Amino acid sequence: MDAVKARAIVARRTDYSESNCMLTLFAEGLGVISACVYGIKSKKSRLLAASQPLCFAEFVLVKTRGDIYRVESAEIIETFYPISEDIKKLALAGYFLDILSDSFSAADGEILALILNTLYALSYKEIDPQIAKAVFELKIMQYSGYEPNLETCIKCGSKDSLEAFDFSGGAVCASCRTHSAVILPSGVKEAMLYILKSDTKRIFSFVLPKEAKETISQICENYILSKSEKHYKSLEYYKKII
Ligand SMILES: [Zn+2]
Repeated sequence: MDAVKARAIVARRTDYSESNCMLTLFAEGLGVISACVYGIKSKKSRLLAASQPLCFAEFVLVKTRGDIYRVESAEIIETFYPISEDIKKLALAGYFLDILSDSFSAADGEILALILNTLYALSYKEIDPQIAKAVFELKIMQYSGYEPNLETCIKCGSKDSLEAFDFSGGAVCASCRTHSAVILPSGVKEAMLYILKSDTKRIFSFVLPKEAKETISQICENYILSKSEKHYKSLEYYKKII
């Protein structure tokens, strides 16, 4: 079987024997894949560093049985080391990697660019983790085909008095609002529209007052949880330590 080269981020690592492990990679052009690494503990192994969660590397992979690959070699591109020195950022990144591991859409360069830009901002820029989290949640939903509609009421199509957010898919007007929808302040709606319309390099370039940050954070988190129907232990852990 021919080897393939793919840039990928390590989303998860499971050790299954003394010297072998299984990686969950989010790889450019391949999406979420499993890849075995053999002989990782040996002193000569150059794969150890590249097999850490968060590591972004160019992997040489050989397909074995089914959809499982074997890692032949890896050249590290970025380790996002500053994240590992901050327990809160590390917990948040763990949640992002969990979402990525069961990413609803397979091979998607935009999702890879999103995670890389988000981790870069957390590592090297003064970014508010609460904003990073909301942006990542909303943007990955958009790229996975679940973009909420914020410009017209999702029930009647009206463009007026869009005052609430319904987790089934977007904004609702005053007449269509039900008890399950939450208030959507106009500043929060504008910020969400900005995130949806911006490419991944510009998504963090906005400011919000504290109260609006709380609201956008709640809406984006509940939106991804309601659409994915997942329960993330990593999210619980992150919320416990912040
Ligand atoms: Zn309506």
